[in-house]
Amino acid sequence: MPETANREQSRRRRILTGDRPTGRLHLGHWVGSIQNRVRLQHEYETILIIADLHMLTTKRSRNDIREVLSNARGLVLDYLAAGIDYEKTTIYLQSAVAETFQLNTILQNLVTVNRLLRLPSLKQMAGAANIEEESFPLGLLGYPVLQAADILLAKAQLVPVGRDNLAHVEITREIARHFNNTYGEVFEEPEPLLSDIPALVGTDNRGKMSKSAGNAIYLSDDEKTVRAKVGSMFTDPKRIHPDIPGKVEGNPVFIYHQIFNDNRGEIEELEARYRAGKVGDREVKDRLADALERFLSPVRERADFFSNRPGLIDEIIWNGTLKVRQIAAETMREVHHKMGFDRVWKDLVPKGGGQG
Ligand code: ATP
Ligand code: MG
Repeated sequence: MPETANREQSRRRRILTGDRPTGRLHLGHWVGSIQNRVRLQHEYETILIIADLHMLTTKRSRNDIREVLSNARGLVLDYLAAGIDYEKTTIYLQSAVAETFQLNTILQNLVTVNRLLRLPSLKQMAGAANIEEESFPLGLLGYPVLQAADILLAKAQLVPVGRDNLAHVEITREIARHFNNTYGEVFEEPEPLLSDIPALVGTDNRGKMSKSAGNAIYLSDDEKTVRAKVGSMFTDPKRIHPDIPGKVEGNPVFIYHQIFNDNRGEIEELEARYRAGKVGDREVKDRLADALERFLSPVRERADFFSNRPGLIDEIIWNGTLKVRQIAAETMREVHHKMGFDRVWKDLVPKGGGQG
């Protein structure tokens, strides 16, 4: 590698972000995170974590774990289809990096239970998973600590987050600081890379698009499915007839037009006619389905390409995991050294007559 390229490489800051392998990606994920990652991968060294240990807070049966690999494959297929470049972005499986468990155990002692209990995200996560307060698993309380372990293990400098997750990066910073003050400098405090994109509403207009609400359009949906979903989308409920003036603001069909329709002129025209009561819902939806097809067809093409090479996806995850294992081992050597564990273990080895 030429010297300049080398320096370029070493100056690139590292990002860590990812998903729990609990299902396929939908348009909400694309709006909220994937789009951003596709853009950032050119500027930063990106590591995507498939967070199967984080999945255990809500899904932990043997069957859930059996499904980790197929879900991970689906997730990675969606990443690649959405434009993640596997030559630029490292993708790895969290549970296959044993150092994650090690660092997590150490970091758990550098944050208080009280601090974690104060996080509003804790109640949200519990609520979303239907967990009553008295049956909180310790792992749910420790969710942000495990996140800190992932981020610090990989020595990531940047963490892309939405506003509601800023507090988790703050916890990571506090833990890093606490570690450095207690044992010596190992960790750089990671910075949040804030994206203030509001959550995408679901097709039913009842809160954000999500898998469990059944109001999602998936990146992997075929054309027929997309058209059917768009056809049954919620619009302005007052408009029982095409000649009644309609409301564009807060209307999910127009929200989707604004995000996914690349034909700005068409949007303006449809909006004007909608407000004037001069267009039926049917036409507005048909144009949206067309726009989504333009958006999704290259996604589908890439998905087809990678679906025809199933071994490649496993290879991408495996190679990424090996790479992160190396980074993690290096980090843990430093951690154990600063903490003094390496000395303890060395002193334990029998002198002279001992084996090995
Ligand atoms: P579930 O229904 O199981 O909660 P989900 O579809 O809501 O699944 P999550 O796994 O909870 O998906 O979402 C992971 C991340 O994806 C969220 O933290 C958020 O950053 C982003 N995300 C999910 N849904 C949306 C959405 N509708 N709009 C924007 N971002 C979203
Ligand atoms: Mg959710």
